[in-house]
Amino acid sequence: MRYNQPMRAIHLQPQEAAESKRSLLDLSREELTEYITGLGEPKFRAKQIWDWIYKRYAPDFQAMTNLPKALRERLSQEATVQPLTPVTQVVSQDRQTQKLLFALPDGQTLEAVLMLYERRRTLCISSQVGCAMGCTFCATAQGGLARNLTAGEILAQVLYFARYLADPSLEPALRVERPTTVTNIVFMGMGEPLHNYRQVWTAIRRLTDPDAFGLGARHITVSTVGLVPMIDRMAEEGLQVNLAVSLHAPNDELRSQLVPIDQRYPVADLLAAVERYIARTNRRVTFEYALMQGINDSPELAVELAQKIQHLLCHVNVIPLNPIPGSPFQPSSPEETERFVGILRDHGIPTTVRLRRGIEINAGCGQLRRAVAA
Ligand code: SAH
Repeated sequence: MRYNQPMRAIHLQPQEAAESKRSLLDLSREELTEYITGLGEPKFRAKQIWDWIYKRYAPDFQAMTNLPKALRERLSQEATVQPLTPVTQVVSQDRQTQKLLFALPDGQTLEAVLMLYERRRTLCISSQVGCAMGCTFCATAQGGLARNLTAGEILAQVLYFARYLADPSLEPALRVERPTTVTNIVFMGMGEPLHNYRQVWTAIRRLTDPDAFGLGARHITVSTVGLVPMIDRMAEEGLQVNLAVSLHAPNDELRSQLVPIDQRYPVADLLAAVERYIARTNRRVTFEYALMQGINDSPELAVELAQKIQHLLCHVNVIPLNPIPGSPFQPSSPEETERFVGILRDHGIPTTVRLRRGIEINAGCGQLRRAVAA
């Protein structure tokens, strides 16, 4: 298959450096209240600011028009509601996918991808800068882990696109039809979300809090390489968040070569954790399986996979591999993909093939950051 060149890559000029300013997105409601009352302001100002941030997506303090001017000035000097600075925006030719590279105050970068579907506005966000898991076919893995993102930095990705989608001043070609907000969030950008558990879950709580961003938990998906103890922990959170598990191979012999953490949490333990998760939450779990030609796409492996997960309330999402420059792994052909998917379906396993959104704009798996860094 051939892909067109990207429509454009825009290098954006940061409006103001967020450096050394306190990010209010990293504060809980109580902490924000403490901060604001500490400035000698009444408590209700904190509620106003909270609503401006999470309900009205204010880009800065100047937009918070019901605050006294002096307070706005003061906050502008010492705090920020936008800790991420957009650096590069790439929009696909059909305009349905766009990727943003953001700079963090310490100069690190991260990516997020917005995908427009008919009724969904799905945002793929990062949980870490880089990743420590070392999956051999993944671009993010190659530089290792730089650092965890804070909850505020995770939330900032969502708020940026919430602002973008609702922006009436967008040029007509880029304007988005309703729904003009983020409707779905997937933790499938850079990083292993369950390796940054506390910050990710602080962000999820705020995203699902009806008094904050107010997104339904069922519209959020956490994708994990399979950190067994954290899957058990997630089962106890009591939120209807979706769990996706990156399986990619049905046995340890193969999986340990693709996903090194398999040596610590082998397939049998992982599937047992998924079974406990389903029993506890009654939620259908997704298995992700990136098909690599001649590696994990044989009919035998399809049968083995089917037999091992048949008893689970699950569905398989087959992902055509995004080839990474210099990597030996290649995507399976459409025929090989069909064959693999057909076997799973014959065993009664609901299986979908993920659309290859964003390939031509380097939106797959850590690729923009690499391309820009190179
Ligand atoms: N750390 C999380 C999120 C990673 S990205 C996880 O492992 O699930 C989301 C999905 O993209 C994962 O299933 C990951 O294995 C997959 N992925 C990574 N590199 C890929 C590539 N080059 N092609 C296709 N899928 C890839």
